[in-house]
Amino acid sequence: MSQRAFREKWLYKDKTGDWMNVKQPCQFLDLKTNMCNIYAVRPRDCAGFPHHHKRMDAGYMHMYKQNIEYCPATYRMVEGVMERLANREG
Ligand code: SF4
Repeated sequence: MSQRAFREKWLYKDKTGDWMNVKQPCQFLDLKTNMCNIYAVRPRDCAGFPHHHKRMDAGYMHMYKQNIEYCPATYRMVEGVMERLANREG
């Protein structure tokens, strides 16, 4: 399947410009096993989750904010950054 065909079948762009699945939960999630049915070829965005290798700057902040709700590792990372910033100011 081409990238274009994949996008047309499975994705849409949200108001922030991010590509999102047309179905929630993801159409590739096996609901019986809670495993990804396309794990070996999953999208780069899935493979990189929770994206902690990306710079925490304004261009990516909305994604960290979104992921805090789902990802304890992101919550702890953001909490640590906030503590470091608070210690710098205090
Ligand atoms: S890893 Fe990605 S493609 Fe696989 S089930 Fe999760 S969200 Fe869907």
